[in-house]
Amino acid sequence: MRKIDLSNFQVATSETAREVNRRIILNLIRANQAISRADLARKTGLQRSTVSLITEQLISEKWITEGIVGYSPRGRKPRYLRLNVDRAGVIGINIRPISTTIGLADFNANFRAQESIPTPPTPDAFVAEACRRINNLRESHPQISCEGIGVAVPGRVDLQTHRLVFAPNLGWNNVDLRTPLQVGTGLPVALENAANACALFEMWFGQRDNVRDLAIVTVSEGIGAGIVMNGQLLQGPTGMAGEFGHVTLDENGPKCKCGNRGCWEMYASNTAAVSYYRSVTASHRPSRNSDAIPEPTFEELLGLVELGDPRAVETLDRMGRYLGVGVAMLVTGLEPSMVVIVGEVTRVWSRIGPIIETVLRERCLNSSSVRVYPSDDALKPRLRGTVALILQEHFGAPVVA
Ligand SMILES: [Zn+2]
Repeated sequence: MRKIDLSNFQVATSETAREVNRRIILNLIRANQAISRADLARKTGLQRSTVSLITEQLISEKWITEGIVGYSPRGRKPRYLRLNVDRAGVIGINIRPISTTIGLADFNANFRAQESIPTPPTPDAFVAEACRRINNLRESHPQISCEGIGVAVPGRVDLQTHRLVFAPNLGWNNVDLRTPLQVGTGLPVALENAANACALFEMWFGQRDNVRDLAIVTVSEGIGAGIVMNGQLLQGPTGMAGEFGHVTLDENGPKCKCGNRGCWEMYASNTAAVSYYRSVTASHRPSRNSDAIPEPTFEELLGLVELGDPRAVETLDRMGRYLGVGVAMLVTGLEPSMVVIVGEVTRVWSRIGPIIETVLRERCLNSSSVRVYPSDDALKPRLRGTVALILQEHFGAPVVA
């Protein structure tokens, strides 16, 4: 049970009850499209007249629409309600160190248009390019009214200042992307760490129903984690919660970009795998001149695994073990009911999944209560999580007491 915060509370008014019921109705319509008013009254226990009042308001605000007429043996035929996905659009931006994707989605997180560009080298260049492309997207889809811009970043966002404060793999530090994006587009902007965006995607659009405790691990250039506990994203007082990628596994380990040594991501990220592969292949070459060996990309490394290259297979197995070690830390400490791994490595899940499961069985007391899933890359969880960022402001539980 949540303790009431006596430094920041809201007393209940007649508005409070109305707002709570309105959000419940809106979410029931979203979850059960299409649904009649009678079914809404049955599911909520509210009076038909109260349901009608709320749905009329939602229709007048264009959040929902009245669709096809249903069948009834007698009396008035029910008219089914559904979300008005054309009413509201969201601009989603997924920034990664190498490339950035910008798209326009509806509130079901279906992207109507999207494009990928090389990530501009500086924050200023990024903002200028992003504003130009966002304004073009909006001009080419005038029928969609945009509610806001959700941005997933490979770093952490300070909860008070909204500045990007920790993005070692991007190299931008303590920058305000929000204000210039808002000024340049006239839209509200919400920034969130990419792993948190994936956690929001899983909670709002995931295929598995009613998951309230979950951990997302994004495996890319670094490692990020997004944690949802009791249906709420874990953020910490400043927004830095979830930095499991920078928890020390070995204090004598290799130096990390964060300044520490032996962080989890120094063993289990794509970058770590590529550099390990490079070191083992160098040690098998007569010249011992490792600088002469071209470094494969992580995708090329996965290709070599599929071809059965023994050193690539060894590299991937090592990565799997270290992923397991970190996931075991999450499972032991937080007991999520589900862990979702996001990233290119999930393409070889048949190899890496069993290794992670084995490590969990070896190390966790509660391994039987957790399921580990690969995320489906095709679902674009980082990008679609940006839609959840804006959606949650309208569909999340209202703040009471
Ligand atoms: Zn680190």
